[in-house]
Amino acid sequence: MDCIFCKIARRQLPAKIVYEDDDVVAFNDINPQAPVHVLVIPRKHIPRVADMVESDQQLMGKIIYTGKRVAEMLGICEEGFRLVFNNGRYGGQHVYHIHLHVLGGRPMGWPPG
Ligand code: AMP
Ligand code: ZN
Repeated sequence: MDCIFCKIARRQLPAKIVYEDDDVVAFNDINPQAPVHVLVIPRKHIPRVADMVESDQQLMGKIIYTGKRVAEMLGICEEGFRLVFNNGRYGGQHVYHIHLHVLGGRPMGWPPG
């Protein structure tokens, strides 16, 4: 699959990987928007949340759980953090391989832009 996040998952492109297992990979965002900014992806290529099928539910639950584990590992769990899935053009998605943003280390504003 010619997709940058599939390539990161296969270690064909460099990334600072903070966690990986058979299902998911977590790595530092190349353009961090907060002191901690990690992306959690499934190894399976799913373009958008809108492309999820019923059988993806457990995997996507694991993505969120991995976000929580990463937040613990990086010491931002107790202060609080933000989990974001951008979806599609109006949702601000730029890379069409589903990814969870884990943002923390500073207070987050609301509403988002
Ligand atoms: P989104 O706009 O939700 O699709 O987010 C895509 C994110 O991927 C952005 O925060 C980018 O900074 C990040 N990104 C793009 N290319 C890379 C890369 N090669 N390694 C790490 N993060 C990347
Ligand atoms: Zn992909």
